[in-house]
Amino acid sequence: MPERVIVLGGGIIGLACAFEAASGGALVSVIEPGAFGGQASGAAAGMLAPYTENPEQPDPFFHLCQDSLRRYPAWVKRVESISGMDAELLHTGSLTVAMHEADVLPLQTRIAWQRAQGAEAELVGPEMLSRLEPELSAQAVAALYCPGESHINAPKLVAALEAACRKLGVALLAHAGEIDAPRIGGASGSGISVSTSGHGIVKGDTLIVCTGAWACYYAETFGFPIPIHPIRGQICSFNAPPPARVNHMVFSSQAYWVGKQNGSLVCGASEDVAGYDSSVTGRGIDRLVRWGPRLFPFLQGLEPASKWAGLRPATRDGLPLIGPVPGRPDIILAAGHYRNGILLSPVTASIVADLLNGRTPGTPIARFAPERFAPATSRSAR
Ligand SMILES: Cc1cc2nc3c(=O)[nH]c(=O)nc-3n(C[C@H](O)[C@H](O)[C@H](O)COP(=O)(O)OP(=O)(O)OC[C@H]3O[C@@H](n4cnc5c(N)ncnc54)[C@H](O)[C@@H]3O)c2cc1C
Repeated sequence: MPERVIVLGGGIIGLACAFEAASGGALVSVIEPGAFGGQASGAAAGMLAPYTENPEQPDPFFHLCQDSLRRYPAWVKRVESISGMDAELLHTGSLTVAMHEADVLPLQTRIAWQRAQGAEAELVGPEMLSRLEPELSAQAVAALYCPGESHINAPKLVAALEAACRKLGVALLAHAGEIDAPRIGGASGSGISVSTSGHGIVKGDTLIVCTGAWACYYAETFGFPIPIHPIRGQICSFNAPPPARVNHMVFSSQAYWVGKQNGSLVCGASEDVAGYDSSVTGRGIDRLVRWGPRLFPFLQGLEPASKWAGLRPATRDGLPLIGPVPGRPDIILAAGHYRNGILLSPVTASIVADLLNGRTPGTPIARFAPERFAPATSRSAR
């Protein structure tokens, strides 16, 4: 483990990497221009849903997501016990609802391959559905029930990680203001320094770049393309009138609903291209509000109690970038987690800790190597 590690970006990925590096004995500084969790990580619904998010096939991304879900309970327990805070991990399971007979066949196809990959998954009919989710519309014809999926309170997990990092001695440099591009020593690893207007110059041996949708800003500094771009997600929550409750994560073709521990019902999310604009628009939220009563009649006439948005870090091929910058083992990228950064935080942090220790990560990462975007000529030169 290198002695001094600088983490750029205080979202879930940066804090998770800092937590693992500090647990392994490194001296870690996290530099964040604003508040920790102030961007995508604080906006997320917190679903840990590898099976719902990967309906097509068992590819390396599916295995990465499944691996991370398996790690979650023990990892959150560690974060909670060090921080003394509750991140509200709820093992509710999920239901992907079919409103038409024609939607059932793809669910059956999904069940077949996901069961072969170790998922508990079954198709449930209207009678069972009304027992599992009594408030669900009687128009639902069937659902794929996946009891192994969970959700967490993303802002509370960020707060718990921040507190755990503080207990482990991490220098948490929030509100760092203007942050210059890192100054990087020779390829032999002669040190990295980052100049900030809020906290002066921070020095380290290794840099971990976890700047989410902003990671593309470093393409010039590192001399290779980082094709990450922001996709805005607009999301809202309802105060469901008691005793109405949604017990599972419920997915439809147009939206999802997640009943949180405090009784609120989170409903998301749009996927729009709006540059770095993270404001909420009437159009983005109206669609969610319109869809609600089709699945849950009690939502008829209810207005959201709150609305917010965040910028998901999307990549050109839909896969995250996890691994060293080509030719620079002292600079590690961990960004581009798009719709699944909350789910993928434990596995990403574990991979980064392995790389910091010079170990081959226990999880295969070749498919996520940043190098895949390097120009062919520089790839073949190495
Ligand atoms: C509406 C919505 C719902 C979502 N729901 C889910 C879900 O249910 N489950 C799930 O797994 N995922 C979900 N996601 C996706 C998830 O939120 C992201 O994948 C995840 O938060 C990415 O984490 P991150 O740390 O990479 O990015 P961020 O949280 O965006 O953090 C990046 C940080 O880098 C900082 N930064 C920027 N520039 C610099 C710089 N120059 N130097 C230092 N720091 C910098 C930013 O200020 C920011 O705090 C959702 C996203 C949205 C928007």
